[in-house]
Amino acid sequence: MNHDSDPRVLPDRVRQLVIGAGFGGLGMAIKLDEDGERDFLVIEKGGDVGGTWRDNTYPGAACDVPSQLYSYSFAPNPSWSKSFSPQPEIQAYLQGVAREAGVLDRFAFDTAVEEAAWDEAGQVWQVEVSRAGERHTITTDVLISAAGALCEPRLPDIDGIDTFQGEVFHSARWDHDTDLTGKRVAVIGTGASSIQIVPEIQKVVGHLDVYQRTAPWVIPRHDRAYTGVEKALFKRVPAIQKLYRTAIYWGREAYVPAFTRRPELALPARLLGLSNIRRGIADPELRARVTPDYAIGCKRILISNTYYPALASDNVSLVTDGIAKITGDAIVTADGVERPIDVLVVATGFHVTDPPIAERIRGRDGRKLADVWSENGQGAYKGCTVHGFPNLFQIVGPNTGLGHSSMVFMIESQLAYIRDALGTMQTDGLATVEPRAEVQQAWNDDLQRRMEPSVWSSGGCASWYLDEHGRNTTLWPRATFTFRRLLSRFDKTAYTVAPARTREDAFA
Ligand code: NAP
Repeated sequence: MNHDSDPRVLPDRVRQLVIGAGFGGLGMAIKLDEDGERDFLVIEKGGDVGGTWRDNTYPGAACDVPSQLYSYSFAPNPSWSKSFSPQPEIQAYLQGVAREAGVLDRFAFDTAVEEAAWDEAGQVWQVEVSRAGERHTITTDVLISAAGALCEPRLPDIDGIDTFQGEVFHSARWDHDTDLTGKRVAVIGTGASSIQIVPEIQKVVGHLDVYQRTAPWVIPRHDRAYTGVEKALFKRVPAIQKLYRTAIYWGREAYVPAFTRRPELALPARLLGLSNIRRGIADPELRARVTPDYAIGCKRILISNTYYPALASDNVSLVTDGIAKITGDAIVTADGVERPIDVLVVATGFHVTDPPIAERIRGRDGRKLADVWSENGQGAYKGCTVHGFPNLFQIVGPNTGLGHSSMVFMIESQLAYIRDALGTMQTDGLATVEPRAEVQQAWNDDLQRRMEPSVWSSGGCASWYLDEHGRNTTLWPRATFTFRRLLSRFDKTAYTVAPARTREDAFA
């Protein structure tokens, strides 16, 4: 089926259905198209491509991986304005890449997946979607979920938060209609989002209370604008830009052993973090309160030159007493102090180890992916496929996250794997592929064994990397080039495969 006629009319059947139009889903669409696949559809609940970069529009939003690396290898952008791109540039980049690839005619925006259920008799997925209150079922041979790991805001479960009468919003759902000028504002959380927000809003608010539960490690941000000469060279001599990218990649990759096996190697980073505190804050008491008491790298290492000076500003208070409750107009801490506010910003992160999309996918025996995962935590084979869920592929699935380098590299590795899987299904005449249970188990056992010496397990912190069972089901504990190698070919022997009834039936 070809959808270039009218993307507003949802098809009844496609060969591949992709969920999500962020880096993962857009990349998949481009690669499917390149492979000659025309009969696919990308379902996106938002109104545009971009995923996390469409949603996170808070003041100061920018990437903390250099954009030379945090971009598709197949779509270099010679025009990045600086080494770490601001959110609007990344969003514009993704829009431009989508446009130029000519795939947007197969994207259905403002359309949400309600439920995807495997139909064993038909060997297809039945995917119920909704758009503008209307439901529609799409049958697909292959379901590719690129729903994203950092997409569903996690709201804090604080007594009385619903009774707050002022403006309240999550960092990933910034309310641009709320003018913060001169207001009393509170930010709950001191993670990657918060430390970008705080220095920006500190400049305009009347007073800012920053509620810190755990101090993050924050090292300097070596950001700079690219010169005109550099940009011209990137444009005229693409090999130079590639060289930049390669150098950044290997520079980042050199950090891996400090995270995975030898946390003591992170001493230089720890010293950088401590000197960043000294440089940004003069008050010894405040310095002590922002100094983390766990190993650097245990939580994501943050980068900023402006966060500590903002905390030290006259109009900012760092609050480290626990939050007891929220009233109609104030936050009350455990010591009984009440701090009145007009606006509350919750920068409390996302549902990562319990991704909401898993609530919407039902496998071969009718069980929800979320139920299967609730027993031992989320797990997959190669972060991509799951036993009991034939012809389901995930992009940025379990244990594919990174703390040190670009997720786009991981995404492209998964795209290669999925493309090879689809190609194998076609050439070998297969209707279904499903990873064998014991292969998936061995993969995850190996990952968990590798987690043991890592700083994420031994560093003495709680983090969103760990699930409710204390297992790290989010990060990749090896070199990223190893991930790429392991996913370079679809390994059919790890799968139970079912032949198509006729060769033409091979996922057609
Ligand atoms: P996060 O790292 O999960 O941080 C959430 C913050 O909220 C933490 O400080 C946490 O404290 C605090 N918190 C959560 N619940 C709380 C509660 N009930 N009471 C008080 N404090 C509470 O979330 P994020 O900052 O949105 O970042 C998430 C991830 O997104 C990052 O790690 C990164 O991977 C990505 N990100 C990247 C960038 C970038 O590239 N520049 C920017 C933003 C986000 P505890 O530490 O005590 O749990």
